[in-house]
Amino acid sequence: MTATDTPVRKPSSNKTQAPGLDQVAVTALKGVGSQLALKLEKLGITNLQDLLFHLPLRYMDRTRVTPIAALQPLANVVIEGEVRASDVVFGRRRSLLCRLQDGTGTVSLRFFHFSNAQKQKLTPGTRLRCYGETRRGASGLELYHPEYEVIDQNSNKSAKPLQQTLTPVYPTTEGLTQQRLRSLTEQALELLSQHSLTELLPDHLRQQLHQVSLADAVKYLHHPPKEAPIDKLLTGEHPYQQRLAFEELLAHHISMLLLRQRVQETGAPAMAPQPHLQDRLVAQLGFTPTGAQTRVAAEIAYDLQQAVPMLRLVQGDVGSGKTLVAAFAALQAVGNGYQVAIMAPTEILAEQHRINFSNWMEPLDIKVAWLSGKMKAAERREQLAAIADGSAQVIVGTHALFQDEVVFADLGLTVIDEQHRFGVHQRLALREKGREGRQPHQLIMTATPIPRTLAMSVYADLDNSVIDELPPGRTPVSTVVISNERRQQVIERVQQACLEGRQAYWVCTLIEESEALEAQAAEATWQALRQALPQLNIGLIHGRLKAADKDAQMQAFKAGETQLLVATTVIEVGVDVPNASLMIIENPERLGLAQLHQLRGRVGRGSKESHCVLLYGAPLSQIGRERLNAMRSTTDGFAIAEKDLQLRGPGEVLGTRQTGDVHFKLADLQRDGHLLPTIKQIAPNLLAQHPQQAQLLVDRWLGNSPDYANV
Ligand code: ADP
Ligand code: MG
Repeated sequence: MTATDTPVRKPSSNKTQAPGLDQVAVTALKGVGSQLALKLEKLGITNLQDLLFHLPLRYMDRTRVTPIAALQPLANVVIEGEVRASDVVFGRRRSLLCRLQDGTGTVSLRFFHFSNAQKQKLTPGTRLRCYGETRRGASGLELYHPEYEVIDQNSNKSAKPLQQTLTPVYPTTEGLTQQRLRSLTEQALELLSQHSLTELLPDHLRQQLHQVSLADAVKYLHHPPKEAPIDKLLTGEHPYQQRLAFEELLAHHISMLLLRQRVQETGAPAMAPQPHLQDRLVAQLGFTPTGAQTRVAAEIAYDLQQAVPMLRLVQGDVGSGKTLVAAFAALQAVGNGYQVAIMAPTEILAEQHRINFSNWMEPLDIKVAWLSGKMKAAERREQLAAIADGSAQVIVGTHALFQDEVVFADLGLTVIDEQHRFGVHQRLALREKGREGRQPHQLIMTATPIPRTLAMSVYADLDNSVIDELPPGRTPVSTVVISNERRQQVIERVQQACLEGRQAYWVCTLIEESEALEAQAAEATWQALRQALPQLNIGLIHGRLKAADKDAQMQAFKAGETQLLVATTVIEVGVDVPNASLMIIENPERLGLAQLHQLRGRVGRGSKESHCVLLYGAPLSQIGRERLNAMRSTTDGFAIAEKDLQLRGPGEVLGTRQTGDVHFKLADLQRDGHLLPTIKQIAPNLLAQHPQQAQLLVDRWLGNSPDYANV
């Protein structure tokens, strides 16, 4: 079909060239009013280019009719036949059941929702063509709610001819049917010419990458020919899909480079190194920094001397000593007269940093302030004043730090700990706290090792340092996987360990991210353990406690007053009690590997041998077993992260907070990660030599994503 066969309302344009389809609103299509436009907008579709880039999730083969006798369960099929019987039946739910026969056999169509008119139409003798998925039902093979059309037998005409191409199935939203989307896409395709989807990559690059034109790729993907390799299309590995995924990933990458460029256009304070202060800090420590800590600290020190903002990610496995590296950076800023903000994702971790930084900084006459979401108004006012007048030099806090009312006297460095718990947006918000026309340097720390492909996309705007060495004397945590059926034995083991002077965590987990439910579960476990272990002092910590109570619980555990701490995953990040050497994690199969690794990182921090018991709820799924085995067999965070990525995909690995910022229309980091090295290689040149095209590319793919596109 072409635009000349079927008249459609054409948007006005100059006569020689069709307009770019990104300039044509969906409302230009037949039948699209404001209601429908709203629904389309929910899918991120506002113009015809968006519509064409809204590609099928999967395809159905409606190019041939299957004889009823040859039907297999769970297949998408086209069948034709005559209605032999049609009855309303009362099973678990009332439904309309139609028997359809084609000479080879009989099959049932089942409708749970049906109108009277429908019922009257589906009477014996009527010939139908149906499209649907077969499944096993009460009457043998059934098609639930098939699409169908009546074949007109009187005029001896058959129904519409069969499809000549594979039929697309689109991602959609409530109230928007597949048929509707198909017909809209049809209309948009009719308007599609070689020029109406602008090629944004330079010709030489497209040739080098063997790319087909966008128009050809898009046409093909909406209507693949009968003989198309449907398996490749279903997995997204068809070269035409890859071509689009490439462009999308490239656009993301460029957006990150632009973000970085924009950040670096503004100046940052150049800070001279402060070896004297740093030596004084080291002299107070009971240990010497590891080689890796020293190397990474030097990389940061170099960045801080530059008059452009540092954007550096420090990855270091749990327990590798990132806090000290942050402290070195803080000293360099403070020594040059600037303030430092240190942001942690949880109250507990922020509190712990406050204590650490106070212990380290105050002997050097550096004042540490503190800001949390839950502090009393008077104290808060006092802290805010100290931050505003500059008397506070190092400010530790939770996300309370980037609220509007927090005004820094002269912020020179922000440290964001456990970045994976924050979104990109929050990371950017602190940047704006610097003085007019100047940005603070940024140090971002994460213990969730980030697989390379993810680092290359989500953190493409950051330089990267890795602390790849643990402090000496750590013995790796040994992990066992035990069924909940042996819970009693585990409880006895905890008792024995605690009576020998060790300390233990008992971690309760829930699937849902509901703090309230998790708190309840922890409370119940706490009660039960207190009953079972009357000789022990058992603490309890969860997200529902008041800040002061959380504090008290942590302090009691740190001081050894409680031997066992029942906790929710609030202790996941950062908590550091070196004497704790045993951890029980209930229902570990509910957590991601990265999270388990984090949790487990709370033990094995002292010189004692540490143990972790993964107390799973039987039976375990295959994947569940594989994951827990991975935890048992390695303590290397990077290996665990790769395994996690392989088993669960990037969304799960980075957590919703992180991936909430990264919406790919069609790229899939895991499937398409192999494209990233090429992208990384070509993106800087493209940006330098074709800045306008590069920006258009970002607009095309990220137009609706404020975090990246409009910073
Ligand atoms: P993470 O990288 O998980 O944030 P921390 O900064 O909390 O690790 O450090 C973990 C523990 O190791 C802390 O008790 C810290 O004091 C200690 N530590 C840090 N660096 C060293 C070192 N070089 N030698 C010995 N212990 C160290
Ligand atoms: Mg830490």
